[in-house]
Parts: sequence; structure tokens; C-alpha cells
Amino acid sequence: MNNEVEHIDKEPDSNPAMPANFIETIINEDLKTGKYGNRVHTRFPPEPNGYLHIGHAKSICLNFGLALKYGGKCNLRFDDTNPTKEDVEYVDSIQEDVKWLGFDWEDRKFYASDYFEKIYELTVELIKKGKAFVCDLSAEETRQYRGTLTEPGKESPYRNRSVEENLELFEKMRAGEFAEGARVLRAKIDMSSPNLNMRDPVLYRIVRTRHHRTGDNWCIYPMYDYAHPISDSLEGVTHSICTLEFEDHRPLYDWTLANLGIYQCQQIEFARLNLTNTIMSKRYLRRLVEEGYVSGWDDPRMPTISGLRRRGYTPESIRDFCDRIGVAKSNSTVDVALLEHCIREDLNTNAPRVMAVLKPLKLIIDNYPAGQVEELVTENNPENPDMGSRTIPFSRELYIEQDDFMENPPKKYFRLTPGAEVRLKNAYLVKCEHVVKSEETGEILEVHCTYDPDTKSGSGTVSRKVKGVLHWVSAAHAAPAEVRLYDYLLLNNQDQEDEEKEVKDFVDTLNVNSIEVLKNCMVEPSIKNSRPGSRFQFLRNGYFVVDRDSGADMPVFNRIVSLKDSWAKIEKK
Ligand code: ATP
Ligand code: MG
Repeated sequence: MNNEVEHIDKEPDSNPAMPANFIETIINEDLKTGKYGNRVHTRFPPEPNGYLHIGHAKSICLNFGLALKYGGKCNLRFDDTNPTKEDVEYVDSIQEDVKWLGFDWEDRKFYASDYFEKIYELTVELIKKGKAFVCDLSAEETRQYRGTLTEPGKESPYRNRSVEENLELFEKMRAGEFAEGARVLRAKIDMSSPNLNMRDPVLYRIVRTRHHRTGDNWCIYPMYDYAHPISDSLEGVTHSICTLEFEDHRPLYDWTLANLGIYQCQQIEFARLNLTNTIMSKRYLRRLVEEGYVSGWDDPRMPTISGLRRRGYTPESIRDFCDRIGVAKSNSTVDVALLEHCIREDLNTNAPRVMAVLKPLKLIIDNYPAGQVEELVTENNPENPDMGSRTIPFSRELYIEQDDFMENPPKKYFRLTPGAEVRLKNAYLVKCEHVVKSEETGEILEVHCTYDPDTKSGSGTVSRKVKGVLHWVSAAHAAPAEVRLYDYLLLNNQDQEDEEKEVKDFVDTLNVNSIEVLKNCMVEPSIKNSRPGSRFQFLRNGYFVVDRDSGADMPVFNRIVSLKDSWAKIEKK
């Protein structure tokens, strides 16, 4: 697998003049030849065994996007053929996530389990055609008989059972007369095929687990490789798009439809999304949840769609990301910096810019009248004048960031130091006169300044140049807040290949410092009562969203992303 980190340079908006991706090329050709008439019909087929992740978003944007582009349809289909891992909780979350991303399946929400009876009937016909047989080999024996990539397989001793015997046994399988694992139904194809998937693959197995929709109606369940083409066919799908690992399964997909003699759609494979510093397999995401490494499927550090939503990502930014990464036929890993770049681009013009101090230090302006409050007018977003303006209270006692003051600064430190002058954003120039320290610890408790009343921002009177501009809040007016800063959940990249490695490896790559909680933050009063989901730029500190953990007196903000854009740098190179 090619694991070079890819830096795709592509315009954000899908431009009709842009060359079609390879799937669009296939569709264009099919429309020209009239293979499916003038129809384009896709589907998004999640298995409800976990929450959707950013990789699924790629598949959703692709499938629903093609339907939109060609005036076609896209179904939502739950691929619920494995009752042991599936749950309604997942069915619900998947629908919420697809909707949130901005897509609409209209009246086409389907379940593979709705087709169980139909698939059973079709299978009876397949048995009558002599194309399937009931096999009594144990799982272990079946493995031994299958052969390897270099050796052909051996035919099952049950392969030549009569049609009558197969029909009778299959009916008894359905009736629950056999124990789980005792028998399977297999296709009769070719045990010497170079493609292992074609060596008499299992079509049905006995599973004695209650299904979240069909309850105990069934104790035999069709295999994914068998149920999937039939579901596509029954729904009239034209282009069944899946990820690359199913390429070797395509001959079985085609075999199934051809031998059942039902409408034939085509499977097309594309490269799955891999992201640096991100694990995407549901299997591992579930471990993170179940073993308490994160607070849940929607922990803001999770690459799930619900996690990204809680983190503050917008649907627009995720769609933009999926658009930019494009659709390819070979696997690669995308730099997570591109995803971060997409949310910054969105919020740059769409999020109001406000002031919040994460680690407060008291600043007192000794020559500012006690009790006086000025309402300073400021634009909500200089990049977007439509967002209007607001006022911020200014007074004698403020908070600035602890990092913005140094008593003994290194060279090129342009913030506040003894004797130096800086601008307070939107307000005045202030000069540090002295500090007050704790007698016990020596910690700086207060920075005392004087201000120059002639230097009010926007007044145009005195234009002394200073290098530092600091954000601040008025101590008497600011609201306390909790702020949660996040880092990557994983230190190293985890991709498909790593999934097969020792489980221990995966936990070892967890970043133990992926969350930092700051409980003494102070935010400007205008955002005190913001609703969960509201997004802001905190000047100099990044983009933030109000978390649902917010209480009446204590808003909680998640940092979505910092302001520093490492992707923009990569792009410029
Ligand atoms: P996982 O391996 O994460 O459990 P999955 O493929 O088993 O994923 P499904 O619910 O079967 O999950 O996937 C639904 C659809 O989403 C499938 O068509 C699948 O190919 C696609 N998909 C899953 N992961 C990715 C990914 N990383 N990139 C693109 N598409 C994906
Ligand atoms: Mg799966």
C-alpha cells in the first residue's frame, strides 16, 4: 500500500469544467450507451455496528453527491445481516449523521433485513438450479479445504448432494433444526479458482442471535457478499460503489446476480480514506469507547462524525474536505492538516471574533478612573462586514493572558514587559509600570500599567507604532468559563495495515496528552449565554465551540482548531 502522505491541490468547489473522476467517467459512458437508460442510482450501505466516521463521510459525499450531480437517487440502506454486532442505537446515530452532513434519502431508507424472505426465495431457486449446496464441514475443515493462493482447494464431500436433499436441508436450517455452525449453504462455483472468494463461498450461516429488527424470525443469515448484490439489484441500484478491499469480491457479486437471473448492477471500487494520526476502523473506535480511553463515540477527539460535530466542525467543512481529497483508485493517506484547513477556511469568514483569556493575569490601569466603563465598538468579523458589530466593556481592571507578560523577556518578545508599551486590542496603548508579586511564592499577581487616553483605537489621534497587540477582558464584566484544548488522539499514523498488528501496538500509540482542561478562563460578556454549538474565533487562541456540557453559569468551550495553519504552509511550498 502506498502510504505517502498526499497533498492534493484541488479547488474546493466541484466545478463542472473540471475533469470527471474515474467513477464519473464510467457513469458518463453508461449514460452514453444507455446501459441503465438515463438512470443514476447509488446507495450508502452502512452496517449498523458502530458510529460513522470521517471515512464514511467520504462515501456519503460520493454516493449522495453523484445522485445530486446527475439528477439521480441515492438510497440509505442498513446492511444489517450480522445480528451479533448490530444495534438500533447505531441505526439512529447513522441517520442523524447523514442528515447533519446535509443529505436526504427521501423515502428510500431500506434495510437488508427487509429482504430476508426474498433472498431466501431466490436462494431456493439457486439450489434448484444446482448452484448451491448444504455443506456439513466444520469451519476448520472448510478452511483446510479452501486451499491457498498458490494451491487449489479441495471439493467438499457434500458438494454433490442432490437438489432434493439440499432443498430439504436448507429448509431445516431455516426451521432451526441444526445447531449454530453445524451446517452452511455454499455456492457451487470452482474450488480451483485463482480467486479464493470463488471457491464455493458460504452464502448462508446459522446464527442463533436475536436480530434488532427481525427478532427471532430467522436463525439463518445471508453473508454480506451474497446479500449485498441482491439488495442492490432489488433496489435498482445502477452503480454500487464500495472500497478497494472488495475488488476481489466483484466476481462473486457478478456471479450472484447472473446466476439468480436478476437485474444486474455494477460494483465499482474506490480508495478508502486514511488520515494521519487517525484510526478509522469501527472495531478500534469501539475499543476506545468501551475501554474508557474517550468519553464516548462523540468525544470531541474521535474521528466519528458525531465527534467532529461536537468538536465544532461544520457539515460544510467536511463536505469541502471530501471534495478536495477526490476519488482515486489507489490507497493513500491524507494529512489531517487538510481537514483542519477546511474548518479554518469556513470559520474564518463565518465565526464572530471575540476575546477570551484562557490563563488570566490581572492588569490594572492605575491612571484609569475607578468605576468608569467605556463601551468600545468593534466589528464582529473584519473579513465579513455583514456580521455587524458589537460593544465590549473596558474598565480599569482587566485580564490578559499570563503568557503575554514577561518580567525578563528574551529577545524579540513583543508583548508586555516592564517599561514597554503595547496596544490592548480595540482599546488603548498601555505601558507597564510595575508588578505586584506574591510574598510567599514570587508569582506575579498583578501587572500595573498606565494608559494614554489619546491612543484610543479608531480615534486616529496618536499613531505611535507598537509591536504587540494583546487581547483582554474587563475583570468586572467577564464571565468565567471552562475551555478544553485537544490534541491528536494518536501519536502515529494508524492505517489499514496496522489493524492486523498486535492490539497492544494500538494502545501504545495513544497520545496521553490529548486533552487539557482549563477551568479558570474568562470570556467577554457577549458570549456568556451562547447556545451549545455556537462557534467563535477567540482572538489569537483559535476557533471554539460551545459544548453541550455547558452549565447556566459556566459555559464550556471546545477548541475546534488553533489558528496556525500548517496546511497553508504545505500548499505554498
Ligand atoms: P470499518 O472498517 O470502519 O468498520 P466498514 O467498511 O466496515 O468500515 P460499513 O458500515 O460497512 O463500514 O461501511 C459503509 C460504507 O462506507 C461502505 O460502502 C464502505 O466501503 C464505506 N467506507 C467505510 N470506511 C471508509 C473509508 N475509510 N473511506 C471511504 N469509504 C469508507
Ligand atoms: Mg464492515
